[in-house]
This record gives sequence, C-alpha cells and structure tokens, in this order.
Amino acid sequence: MAKDCIFCKITSGEIPAEKVFESEDLVAFKDINPAAPVHLLIVPKVHIPTLNDINDEHAVLIGKMFSVGRDLAKKANVHENGYRMIINCNRDAGQEVFHLHLHLLGGQPLGKMVQPINP
Ligand code: AMP
Ligand code: ZN
Repeated sequence: MAKDCIFCKITSGEIPAEKVFESEDLVAFKDINPAAPVHLLIVPKVHIPTLNDINDEHAVLIGKMFSVGRDLAKKANVHENGYRMIINCNRDAGQEVFHLHLHLLGGQPLGKMVQPINP
C-alpha cells in the first residue's frame, strides 16, 4: 500500500466507495465523477502507479481487469449496445490518480475517443 494513495485506501477499505465487485486481487467501484451513465473503475489491490510500471508478472492481473470489465458491462446491460475500456497514462492522457485503473464507460453513445489531428 502506497502512502497517501486514494485507490490504495479504497481497495483496502480504509475509505468508502460504491463497490460493485471485489476479489482477492481486484476491486471495482463507481467513479465519483461519472463521464457516462455507466462509469466504473476496475482497480488492482497492488499499487502500480502507471501503465509504464507493468511487467510480465502482471499479465494475469491485467487480463483479469479486462475480464471483470467485460462481466460488469454485461451486468450493467451495456454489452449489446457497446462500451469502452480505457487506461490513462501520465500527463498527455490526463491521468489524475497514480494507481493503475481501468475505466469502463457505457450507457450512451461515447463519441470518438480521439479526434484526427488532420481533420
Ligand atoms: P484518471 O484520470 O484516469 O486518473 O481517472 C481517475 C478517476 O478517478 C476520475 O474519473 C475520478 O472521477 C475518479 N475518482 C477520483 N477519486 C475517486 C473516489 N474517491 N471514488 C471514486 N472515483 C474517484
Ligand atoms: Zn495505490
């Protein structure tokens, strides 16, 4: 657990969140400031700051994050219409919380994720 990390505090239960899933190595909870009707965060219990810090030992864990996201998309009934899973890394992606997390977004058309640089 990293000192002063809000997601370490949520995954350990030190501070509350609207949890929708928990296993021995992952927690999923509702984003406090949702960008879509369904906006969940799938978060490993281990503190990994960014995507730059993952290695082969995390391969199973990363796979589980996406499998849990798939299951939660189905549970939220957005699996037919569609959804998006994203991980932001560092400044250009706007990462705000430096504990790895996978966003699951759905429940409305999400628009283009990125705009062409040469429209
Ligand atoms: P990112 O920009 O990828 O680092 O995303 C961080 C996300 O965490 C944002 O969508 C925030 O709304 C969300 N967030 C921050 N604090 C909390 C919290 N205490 N509970 C739930 N979601 C949070
Ligand atoms: Zn952490």
